[in-house]
Amino acid sequence: MVDATWGTGEPPEDVLRMAGQAFDEFHPPRADLIADCVHCGFCLPTCPTYSLWGNEADSPRGRIYLMNEGITGEPMSESMVEHFDACLGCMSCVTACPSGVKYDRLIEDTRAQVERRFTRGRGDALLRKAIFAVFPYPRRLRLLRGPLRAYQGTGLQKLVKRSGLLDRLGPTLATLESLAPRLRKVPPPPRRVLARGTRRAVVGMLTGCVQGAFFPEVNSATVRILAAEGCEVLIPPGQGCCGALSVHNGRREEAAHFARRLIDTFARTGMDYFVVNAAGCGSSLKEYGELLADDPDYASRAADFSAKVRDLAELLDELGPVAPRHPLPMTVAYHDACHLAHAQGIRTQPRALLKGIPGLSLREIADPELCCGSAGIWNILNPVPAAELGDRKARNVLATGADLLVTANPGCMMQVAASLQRQGGTAMAMAHTAQVLDASIRGPVAVGDLLTRWGRGIHPGGAAA
Ligand code: SF4
Ligand code: SF4
Repeated sequence: MVDATWGTGEPPEDVLRMAGQAFDEFHPPRADLIADCVHCGFCLPTCPTYSLWGNEADSPRGRIYLMNEGITGEPMSESMVEHFDACLGCMSCVTACPSGVKYDRLIEDTRAQVERRFTRGRGDALLRKAIFAVFPYPRRLRLLRGPLRAYQGTGLQKLVKRSGLLDRLGPTLATLESLAPRLRKVPPPPRRVLARGTRRAVVGMLTGCVQGAFFPEVNSATVRILAAEGCEVLIPPGQGCCGALSVHNGRREEAAHFARRLIDTFARTGMDYFVVNAAGCGSSLKEYGELLADDPDYASRAADFSAKVRDLAELLDELGPVAPRHPLPMTVAYHDACHLAHAQGIRTQPRALLKGIPGLSLREIADPELCCGSAGIWNILNPVPAAELGDRKARNVLATGADLLVTANPGCMMQVAASLQRQGGTAMAMAHTAQVLDASIRGPVAVGDLLTRWGRGIHPGGAAA
């Protein structure tokens, strides 16, 4: 039996000591969920790692088979961990599965076991340590803005790229450099923004880590849309991370710590909804109830909090539009972020919002279910296959002939922008759904300004190419 007090501390020692098999007794991948898989293979064509390597062990079905081996006595081997690690967590298999296999639950439990029970090689362990010392901390990320702007603005970036130095230092550094968005100066969001016109809802808003540090203009656009649509927006400072990166990488205790802090931050705001504009964050925020289920002090608060979470497109669709839209005469390709489409089932709402803009024509991208290769930090940990997935996506995006690529996740924006550049598609503009709606609501001045900049080939972060 699981110790119900674990939620406030570490898993108890006797539960963790389970020699001779891959998983201990603390939330191993559940046998009943594993048994739901009937091995039909419908999920295989939608799995990016299976499509890359054609290896059964790198398919959802193969990984479920390995989980079964783990719960039936096999030890946690290096090769087993390699196949679990290679999973992007894109949840395309969850959408594809006709038997309703909860692969999302299975891989999350498996990853937590791997992090707790497997000793990684020195290089891998160090890289992960460095990533988790920076990425879930908005203040630390913001400190990178100055040096990054200097690097991008002084010609040093062009010099480094021409020298080929990054390629010699290894694909991880080259990937990090290629992903870095061009940065704009945007004032921090106010703590409270009043609704325009009749107030229809009070909305707490997540500023996010990568979104807040590298895409502050997306947050500004989100606040303006919400206010225009009759929402009072509450943005308390010091929110910290929502824990998405941590929970998606098996660092459950760290994620639980971030979740408790965020719940406390918004505890007495009286919000009706909690809105989020980053797909990866939204999917984990909606699972706070499960994450903190073992914590007697937070379990019900976490479930209540999750019930209020809405992706921006989801909320706007739910409320219905009141702010008039101005025409945006352009062709837009919409990219489904995996954690929006597969993990949250949000596909129709962003498309409906975009189609509601007069003059805007929407195009679909081929193979929309396949991940772009971003997947949180997967592209940093696996730079070579991630670039291959990104390039496939970029080719499909370019084939639409659209003027603008729209998506709703900072990771996708960085990954696809880097891939578009590699594919010679630098003239294609990119924007978050929020920025397009904002431009349409603000009217001719904003539309004209954005169209001009988009026309010059704007990249994530807002600077022209
Ligand atoms: S989550 Fe994505 S990468 Fe992982 S098994 Fe499912 S489809 Fe494949
Ligand atoms: S996960 Fe679902 S789709 Fe994939 S093999 Fe199992 S039952 Fe079939």
